[in-house]
Amino acid sequence: MQRYGGIEAGGTKFVCAVGNPAGELTARVEFATTSPEETLERAAAFFREEGTRHSLDAIGIGSFGPVDLNPRSPTYGYITSTPKPGWANTEFAGAIERATGLKVGFDTDVNAAALGEARWGAARGLDTFLYFTVGTGFGGGGMAHGRLLHGLIHPEMGHIRVPRDAARDPYAGACPFHGDCLEGLVCGPAIEGRWGGRGETLPDDHPAWDLEARYLALAMVNFICTLSPQRLILGGGVMRRGHLFPPIRRQVCALLNGYIRAPELIECIEEYIVPPALGDDAGVLGAIALGERAARGTA
Ligand code: ZN
Repeated sequence: MQRYGGIEAGGTKFVCAVGNPAGELTARVEFATTSPEETLERAAAFFREEGTRHSLDAIGIGSFGPVDLNPRSPTYGYITSTPKPGWANTEFAGAIERATGLKVGFDTDVNAAALGEARWGAARGLDTFLYFTVGTGFGGGGMAHGRLLHGLIHPEMGHIRVPRDAARDPYAGACPFHGDCLEGLVCGPAIEGRWGGRGETLPDDHPAWDLEARYLALAMVNFICTLSPQRLILGGGVMRRGHLFPPIRRQVCALLNGYIRAPELIECIEEYIVPPALGDDAGVLGAIALGERAARGTA
């Protein structure tokens, strides 16, 4: 059976794994994201070692960004303008390719997770859907007509604007670029900045969650109206608070006010706005699915 490597590259940690076309992980390691040189070498060493046990067919990378996804660009496969210290303008895909001798597929972390959900999870059989992660930041990826969303660069759904009622929520927002963009209002650091306590420590009935559900519902409505996705998958550390799903679903329906006549939105909203079926493995399994595509030459 084929075996592929996958790297879920986050600003805090890297997850490297080996998996097969059935979506089973056969090896996995996690380590902190330090300097680019040290971190990429550690990832490459893991795959070289795994490759001596059983050969690998390709590696996929789902990376934090922004990244360059234009195959004609001289900086294709680079992390470009990230504020993460030391990581701006870092060659990633090419460095892993040279260090392992394997073909490499490369995309954003959220597009990778979306692909994983399409291959083995909550988006199987769908061709137009979105995947979001709400955690340290807010990221969105997905597919339209069966193709991962790219474009000018790639979507940056976390930085859309949603209305903020400054009387109800005087917090100015956590985004270093925009203040109260969506990410600046809903990410983990925003919850902590606004309420003075980490999200994990706030009880289910804390007013933080009403506000969080409100902003996320406003964002979901914008994305529903923009792309007409067949499903919305919401993952990430903040969404592990499963009690957020019912108020988000309720408010999405209320905000749409019956305008979009799809049974998915009216009769089965519980199956329309869902957590990732792959749970915390969506990202690394998605990276493995990117490796599978690279091996087939369909990246
Ligand atoms: Zn922003």
